[in-house]
Amino acid sequence: MAVQPASSRPARWVAYIVVLLIVIGASWPAASTISAAAPPRATAVAFEVAYAAAVPQEVRAAFDDSVNVWAPLLNSNVPIKVSVTWTEGGDCSSSCTLASAGATNNVQNFTNAPRRNVLYPIALANSLAGQRLNGNRVDIEANFNSQANWFYGTGTPPQGQTNFKATAVHELAHGLGFSATLDYDQGGDTGSWGFSGNATPGIFDQFVVNGSGQQLIAVFPNNSAELAAQLTSGNILFDGPNTRAANGGNPAKLFAPNPWQVGSSLSHLDQTTYLGGPNTLMTPKDEGTTSIFEPGPITEGIFKDMGWPGTPGTPAPSTTPAPQPSNPTPPPFKVTATTKGTGAIIENGAVGGNSYSYTTNPAANEVFLGWYIDGQPKGYAPTITLTVDKELTLEADFTDRRVFDDATPDKTGATEAIAQLEARDIIKGCDADANRFCPTDPTLRAQMAVLIVRAMGWSGETPTKGFGDRNGVDDELWQAIGILATRGVVTGYGDGTFGTTSPVLNAQVISFITRAMVKKGLWQFQPDNGTIYPNVPQSSGHRQDLVTYVHYAGAVRGTANTTTGSDGKIVPPDGTTGPFNGWDATSSRAYFAFALWQVLQSYYGTDKVGLGGYIP
Ligand SMILES: [Zn+2]
Repeated sequence: MAVQPASSRPARWVAYIVVLLIVIGASWPAASTISAAAPPRATAVAFEVAYAAAVPQEVRAAFDDSVNVWAPLLNSNVPIKVSVTWTEGGDCSSSCTLASAGATNNVQNFTNAPRRNVLYPIALANSLAGQRLNGNRVDIEANFNSQANWFYGTGTPPQGQTNFKATAVHELAHGLGFSATLDYDQGGDTGSWGFSGNATPGIFDQFVVNGSGQQLIAVFPNNSAELAAQLTSGNILFDGPNTRAANGGNPAKLFAPNPWQVGSSLSHLDQTTYLGGPNTLMTPKDEGTTSIFEPGPITEGIFKDMGWPGTPGTPAPSTTPAPQPSNPTPPPFKVTATTKGTGAIIENGAVGGNSYSYTTNPAANEVFLGWYIDGQPKGYAPTITLTVDKELTLEADFTDRRVFDDATPDKTGATEAIAQLEARDIIKGCDADANRFCPTDPTLRAQMAVLIVRAMGWSGETPTKGFGDRNGVDDELWQAIGILATRGVVTGYGDGTFGTTSPVLNAQVISFITRAMVKKGLWQFQPDNGTIYPNVPQSSGHRQDLVTYVHYAGAVRGTANTTTGSDGKIVPPDGTTGPFNGWDATSSRAYFAFALWQVLQSYYGTDKVGLGGYIP
């Protein structure tokens, strides 16, 4: 059989557009209220839900019902995209996590952003911007535990069962923005806000006050014991005008127990105060033991305070109660920022010493390719921290986002990975004449080789080793196999063959990518750990590669207990004890794309400033 070479298409760069976007030091206009030019509002928001294949029909029906609770409450003309997965999350006979959900991204300083330098969950940001800022990407990911004892009816569930619809309405609230970044570090007993060491607060955090009315993020230092004490004080409130209006003139009490409860504290209403009443739904533990399906007046007030336009016909939300962060502090030396493409660079200001923070803001139809500092590639973390000890140039490159007709989010979970790899000329479509990717087709070993070679930047090298079974593959594929053999990434079957046109298995995908990262010098092999994917036997030869992959890139796609971190990345669960089902199954093109992008993103998509400088 002949292997299709990757198809080609016209270069996307018709012009090299340089936009002088920011000369750092220019002052920002104040933007503390929603612009009068905010887009007109539709009567109810449209949800677009993509269900993973494993989600049973009755779950889909119940989730659709939960969406119908939110739709009339959110007055927005931008659809909200939700993905729903159904995974084994642990036995629920004593206690378990029933479900989890979150925004896939949090963004700041977009068009019409009511507050500067404040992170908004992407669904809310899209609503405020009046357009999708993230293209076809999903806004909210929700996962439900298939091992829970779910009740799908509309009444009060029998003892021991959990109302799915109420749980789903609750989880959607988290994904829509009922979520604090304020967090308690149990290792150091410090309190913090922001994601991954970046001190940008979220919109929810802006309204969090203590019993004395002090705004936590304004009064208490980030990463401090003082803030930690506040977060576990049992007297923390959400204070905004709409919340007060919904709560008899008072701020609403948040769940802030001592000790801190991971995943529950701050991001719920207080259990003792509200359980059993009309605001039950957003208390932390009830989650579906009643037949209350409405978020309740306090949660609706909180949503309006955060900027959600509220129910059609209600007054526009009030938006200016809390103090604003100061304007970005300009660095001591001039930074000339330019972009290639139409996306933008946002200056976040000083983050300490000579360090200044910058964020990309790609247009919805673009992919952010990466940063260049004085012409040198510096990875593609969405936000980078830059040491400004001399004049320098900062460039952000964007390119067109290509969405294949058969790789939209309703057809594959790898849409983003495919778009990102395609934009980097690592993968291409499967058909030169049609806009198709063929996500479910198997990946052949020769194809895998060429994709890894491109991703590692090894194209054009001259191999000194190779195999005997070319099987008619084209020059690039054959050369790629030789390059991987020369570099020691692949060793073939020992009989002089590589299995050039054989399909690759899921575990082999993980192994080959891992070995390439090690051979490139970016990763080091990690010792085996029997708690990770214990169903993959030693005899498979994949164990060390799997453990190394999880160590650096997070849980392998398709494994149980995977979860999504606050930064949108897949992270390994506690102990990573779930099995890697399908490890020895034939891998699809979508699976390969997902795994390769997960690895590239985990390395190049992370700001490495804390590790001694940017590593391109
Ligand atoms: Zn919750």
